[in-house]
Amino acid sequence: MTSPIYTKFLSVAEPDLSELEERYVLEAVRSGWISSIGAFIDRFEQSFAKFCDAKHAVAVANGTVALHLALVAKGIGPGDEVLIPDLTFVATGSAVRHAGAEPVLVDVRPDDWCMDPDLVENAISPRTKAIIPVHLFGHPARMNEIRGIAQRNGLFVLEDAAEAHGATYHGKPVGSLGDAAAFSFYGNKLVTTGEGGAITTNDAEFAARVRFLKDHAMSKERRYYHPDVGYNYRMTNLQAALGCAQLERYEQIRRSKDRLLNWYREAMQGLPISLNPIPPNGGAVCWLVAGLLPETTTYAQREGLMHRLRSQHGIDTRPFFVPLSKNPPYANCRRAQESRKSVAEDLAERGICLPSSNSLAQEDVVRIAKCLADELAAIARA
Ligand SMILES: *Cc1c(COP(=O)(O)O)cnc(C)c1O
Repeated sequence: MTSPIYTKFLSVAEPDLSELEERYVLEAVRSGWISSIGAFIDRFEQSFAKFCDAKHAVAVANGTVALHLALVAKGIGPGDEVLIPDLTFVATGSAVRHAGAEPVLVDVRPDDWCMDPDLVENAISPRTKAIIPVHLFGHPARMNEIRGIAQRNGLFVLEDAAEAHGATYHGKPVGSLGDAAAFSFYGNKLVTTGEGGAITTNDAEFAARVRFLKDHAMSKERRYYHPDVGYNYRMTNLQAALGCAQLERYEQIRRSKDRLLNWYREAMQGLPISLNPIPPNGGAVCWLVAGLLPETTTYAQREGLMHRLRSQHGIDTRPFFVPLSKNPPYANCRRAQESRKSVAEDLAERGICLPSSNSLAQEDVVRIAKCLADELAAIARA
């Protein structure tokens, strides 16, 4: 076996952890409060609500159940339709299906990769109950347009903010832009608790319903009396301890990520790869550094490029999400798109996520850009 020529494997995402996370988790362990009651849970929920400029935050087990629980708490279920973007992580779709409702897949925009509001109005049917805009890769969706359409049609707006902690839209943080929002704190997200999630809202009654359902729907007045069928969707105090440290360190985490994206923009100047879109009014965060290869790149060329980066150069990359409409359980969903080949499909075929860990050095980014330039030159010659 020949030894690789690279010395350091550059993974797509590693959590940004410090001694503070270590200290808080140890504190939780030593306190004995390791399950879903404890001081860190309360503190995390309060800090996170404040972070999102929302009145309430309810911590849950992960982002997928946050989406599911928000739909169920709103009473959305069998016979109802929910509009979601075609380009998203599968959890947006599976949460709708778990609720017993039917996803309707709305195409995304080429300029921000998020749900296209121009396609939303026509996608609404008498059965439509909710819209879930996704702030993909940290870029806020066009919430003003989406909220306007929702208001005119009496629809519930649930932000899927799993990839956009701390992003703002016209100066307001995501998590406060709809009727409710779902967040994920999975290990590769901007703020992590290992596994975890949260629902934010300004509606006290809705927050109380979410709290009730996430803990077995047990009556507040009478222990072990359950007027509804609930769930165990609780987060643990151990996870919340990690989350408290992450929120305290958010500005630091965000600054490192912004610096990383800037290094990429600088190193890749002149390359025919467009990186994370920049909103006209700012406010995006960088979850993963994501790039679009030139329009002429075929699916096979992208797969070859990704394979060689990994095997020859130790550079880990990921393709964009496969559009939901290209996954068997969602292939027959009703769809709203302009042309036969959707924008989602085009982006999905030539998009790649690049190493995005805060531990990367500028010289790593320069090396990645050089390898990409060589690869693209080879593709152009072929
Ligand atoms: C990560 C993610 C989720 C799901 O979160 P989990 O915590 O992994 O369940 C949902 N939606 C989007 C857009 C995501 O990126």
